[in-house]
Amino acid sequence: MPNPQFPVARKYRAVLRAARMLTETTRHLEWEVVGGGPFDFIAGQFVSMTLQRDGDEHTRAYSISSAPRPDARFDLCLNRVPGGLFSNFLCDVEPGTEIDFTGPHGFFVVRRPLERALVFIATGTGIAPMRGMLAELFTPGADLDREVWLLFGVRHPETILYREEFDQLAAQHRHFHFVPTLSRAPADWPGERGHVQPLLRRLFAGRSDLDAYICGLKEMVDDVRRILKEDFGLDRRQIHYEKYD
Ligand SMILES: Cc1cc2nc3c(=O)[nH]c(=O)nc-3n(C[C@H](O)[C@H](O)[C@H](O)COP(=O)(O)OP(=O)(O)OC[C@H]3O[C@@H](n4cnc5c(N)ncnc54)[C@H](O)[C@@H]3O)c2cc1C
Repeated sequence: MPNPQFPVARKYRAVLRAARMLTETTRHLEWEVVGGGPFDFIAGQFVSMTLQRDGDEHTRAYSISSAPRPDARFDLCLNRVPGGLFSNFLCDVEPGTEIDFTGPHGFFVVRRPLERALVFIATGTGIAPMRGMLAELFTPGADLDREVWLLFGVRHPETILYREEFDQLAAQHRHFHFVPTLSRAPADWPGERGHVQPLLRRLFAGRSDLDAYICGLKEMVDDVRRILKEDFGLDRRQIHYEKYD
């Protein structure tokens, strides 16, 4: 039974308009929907892309890493997985290439009304849906009076995806706090070190007035969910997540 609050998933065709490497292994892609009609989605949802190879059809899920915008475009942010079929195709594909996809899928979206402080917790390309959600929350002119935190775990400083964008957002909005944390920080790194789990405990211990949004690989997501439920006492309705495997 379709949920009336979410757009119905359909088949579409998109063309790659632009792409750039964010790191040695992570690519940002901008697609324009050119077939199937207007593509409606809510920031945080994902698409399921299709590739024909050797007579077989392959599909993979990718979070949309942008907010809805009027030009029929949406972004993806993806990692090249060694030996991976789809991610290698998408990391090498040239602008002008067309692809079929279905969507939007999923329920990983910011729940409204906003009742509590929002804490986004991401690792690696788990940042993708958060980038869209944050762009939607901080649409120009939006007068957001909630605290919004982004805890972002990566290994090295140069792999802090979209770092300039988040720094700029933090400079523009006093309620937004961007906290990258590095698991392999160089000696001169002035910021947070280690994984997102201890950072979460340190910043929010004792607080249950939070709505949490978690995205990344399964192990991190499960661990953070457990901390929020068992240690912080959050109700499961305050915890939203997307797992990438
Ligand atoms: C809802 C959802 C949203 C997703 N959004 C994104 C996104 O925004 N960006 C993104 O980069 N990925 C995302 N993924 C993961 C994506 O769907 C693919 O699994 C990933 O691109 C690997 O596909 P592949 O065909 O290259 O690898 P496959 O050919 O399917 O797998 C090759 C090998 O790599 C392993 N593997 C698969 N995925 C990973 C991984 N992520 N890290 C390490 N090893 C892996 C597999 O176990 C296998 O051994 C999402 C997954 C889900 C379920």
